Amino acid sequence: MNVDTLIVGAGFSGAVIARLLAENTKQKIMVIDSRDHIGGNCYDYVNQYGIRISKYGAHLFHTTRQDVWNFISAFGSWEPWEHKVLAKIYPRDGSDDFAYAPVPICIQTIQKLYDSSVQNEEDMRRWLAEETRSIKFQTPYKNSMESAVARFGHRIYNDFFHSYTLKQWEKSPEELDASVLERIPLRYNKDDRYFTDPIQMLPSCGYTGVFKDLLNHPQIEVRLNTDYFQERHCFNGVNFTVFTGPIDGYFASRGLDRLEYRSLRFEEDTFEMGDKDTVMQPASVVNEPSMRVPYTRTVEFKQFLNQRSTHTTLVREYSASNGDPYYPVPNERNTKLYATYQQLAERETEAERRTVLFLGRLANYKYLNMDQAIGNALDHWQKWTKDDMIKTHV
Ligand code: FAD
Ligand code: UDP
Repeated sequence: MNVDTLIVGAGFSGAVIARLLAENTKQKIMVIDSRDHIGGNCYDYVNQYGIRISKYGAHLFHTTRQDVWNFISAFGSWEPWEHKVLAKIYPRDGSDDFAYAPVPICIQTIQKLYDSSVQNEEDMRRWLAEETRSIKFQTPYKNSMESAVARFGHRIYNDFFHSYTLKQWEKSPEELDASVLERIPLRYNKDDRYFTDPIQMLPSCGYTGVFKDLLNHPQIEVRLNTDYFQERHCFNGVNFTVFTGPIDGYFASRGLDRLEYRSLRFEEDTFEMGDKDTVMQPASVVNEPSMRVPYTRTVEFKQFLNQRSTHTTLVREYSASNGDPYYPVPNERNTKLYATYQQLAERETEAERRTVLFLGRLANYKYLNMDQAIGNALDHWQKWTKDDMIKTHV
């Protein structure tokens, strides 16, 4: 086969590397994906009601990295979009009288649920200091329960984080690394946006449009419905492979335990609204931190970029232990096991007598936002160029 570099996976990690190679070398690049579409987990499509749906859950692009934005904004077309999330909070007395409150926790969250007198940063700091006064966990925190309770106090922890995390991970926060709940910011002001990064955008042509542009290059060939492990023999002559699939899948024959992932299951309902601008939810994403429903959140896709349709489609997300790998499970067992896989990965180039690079959220067993996946690919490219690897190995 006349291919110089094989790229396994047509998500951001694979597609960005493919584009960089195509633009900067004379190589022929083959990108394969076992799925029937490009885009990896960012893939989206327009449904029969004209609403753009992300097949694997809502994806909001945000970044602090100007180089990432400079690179990716050249593909597709993008519009500013600031994401907001509300959580549905039920009272502790068991009644059905729920309230919608902003996530991340900010002044409006406290006003809505706990204390309407909290008005400014000073009040917020005082209120939180009081909530956390009796909490004496030592840093570094041992797990996510400690890291969240130490920052938010027991009330917020129980209302927002404990049950949601149980549903999402099938593990209590005590069993998860502190990092899981450290991801969630705490705001001392009235900024109720989900992200504060200076660059927050959505692609108007969808992520799939961005990927079409990224992969549209005469030196890049894309083959879908092609699983690397089944078709590996066809690529024996290729001397450089970039693998962006699960690292434990790649080394499955070595007999190590498998890494643990969480998956998601989606349930979709469409409703006729009549008016093209009418929506059903008070926000595009409504989190469900209570145990009253088994799903974690409901996404109303019509709200992203204010799409117009006589219908609206709601998608409920259920966490699952089986299915496509979505989230690495950050705990001690998996961290140790991944380190063993990493050692195998480091030796693989030698063993295979051809260069193999492991890149992306599945190969690096790390939750990466889209900008981090793009950024890692750009950083790798910089490193290769600096090390002159492009000339010697590729
Ligand atoms: P992927 O997109 O997973 O691509 C890997 C590809 O490799 C897949 O298409 C897979 O089919 C293919 N593959 C695997 N094994 C094989 C094989 N053996 N043969 C052939 N092909 C194979 N990030 C944000 O910045 N903002 C968000 O709002 C956001 N929301 C998210 C919501 C959810 C539910 C999830 C799970 C992730 C979210 N992310 C978000 C993260 C984002 O999805 C990732 O950053 C991005 O997908 C990483 O790209 P990747 O190329 O590394 O991996
Ligand atoms: N989380 C929570 N309650 C919420 C939102 C998030 O307990 O209302 C926890 C949960 O454990 C989740 C983690 O915080 O896995 C990270 O949330 P984020 O919204 O960043 O996750 P993602 O969008 O990647 O699912």
